[in-house]
Amino acid sequence: MSKASFFSASPAFINDFVGLWGEKPFRARQLIHWHFRKRVFSVEAMSDLPQAFRERLEQEFSWHLPEIVSLLDADDGATKLLLKADRNQLIETVILRYPHRTALCVSSQVGCKLACRFCQTGKLGFFRHLSASEILGQFCLAESIVQKEGRTISNVVFMGMGEPLDNYDEVVKAVQILTDPEGFGLSHRKVTVSTSGLADKIVRLSEDVRVALAISLHACRDELRSDLMPINKRFPLAPLKEAIQHYQRTSDTKITFEYILIKDKNCSVREAKELVHFLQGIPCKVNLIPFNNHPGLPYERPSEEVIKTFQKYLMDRGFVATVRYSKGGDVSAACGQLAAKRVAGLGEVPQRLSVLTV
Ligand code: SAH
Ligand code: SF4
Repeated sequence: MSKASFFSASPAFINDFVGLWGEKPFRARQLIHWHFRKRVFSVEAMSDLPQAFRERLEQEFSWHLPEIVSLLDADDGATKLLLKADRNQLIETVILRYPHRTALCVSSQVGCKLACRFCQTGKLGFFRHLSASEILGQFCLAESIVQKEGRTISNVVFMGMGEPLDNYDEVVKAVQILTDPEGFGLSHRKVTVSTSGLADKIVRLSEDVRVALAISLHACRDELRSDLMPINKRFPLAPLKEAIQHYQRTSDTKITFEYILIKDKNCSVREAKELVHFLQGIPCKVNLIPFNNHPGLPYERPSEEVIKTFQKYLMDRGFVATVRYSKGGDVSAACGQLAAKRVAGLGEVPQRLSVLTV
């Protein structure tokens, strides 16, 4: 049987197994300190742990992090990591550097079932869920990269490959370890789960964990949204809004809405009006994302004028609406898209890349 990965160990679990091994409680505290506070991810480097204890940790657990297949630095402070997860499947993690924070965009699945028509990952189909240790493995690997630059990851967004709420248990487990004050200790406002709108899971999430929520909305008319995002047939806009409002009230945080602007599809005044109507009664901010062109996808980016008009319509009505341009060229776009391209054999890894800023 393969060993359990250490990367999904919670502080409570560490306390438990160290106790079971007959070690003193302070050994657990030391190990927790190395892993979660110092963010040191190899047993070898945990210099004040006794040799026998370190050997046992090596024996009992796998300390294997995802392998880097390629690492692409963009000129805008982003690094895309194409990673080999277990079973040799490719996933993607993106490091986003800002002056005062460092964010990480993680994948939650290999591929995605939900088949949104504008999304490269959606075109690919679904391969499998990632385990909590593979999700946290992305975090640990990226953290060890940015540490060398004197940075530390302060924000995590689940906007890579996959639909996080379709992999509910493993994602919640990862979020709990990221936000546990005894664990990685990230503020629950700085960990964001992005979903295409699984209304039942949104309600469940509000009961299970505190985390920021982003909704990939993209249209506020059922007919249009179902065309762009088939999941809307299962969870149309009305129950989705109810679930979002429930989440908002329970968590007492603003909801982020992602809205891709697609030429001649969802960004005329009609759709802006529908969006404003949908947003009534939900404290929120809106990220407008000009569509990133991909070969094989039937859509285009609208003109600057259309983008600005759409944004102004929202701002004039009191909404916080930011246009999130992807940076670094027009090759691969939002998080998750590069790996999807590679997996689907749609082309080689581009040398220039662009990412969705969060
Ligand atoms: N499945 C989740 C999270 C991953 S998708 C979700 O859908 O929210 C991450 C983000 O990239 C989503 O907001 C998605 O709508 C966006 N995205 C996908 N394809 C895109 C494209 N071609 N251009 C711009 N954004 C895109
Ligand atoms: Fe899946 Fe999100 Fe892409 Fe839709 S946008 S196919 S939910 S990854």
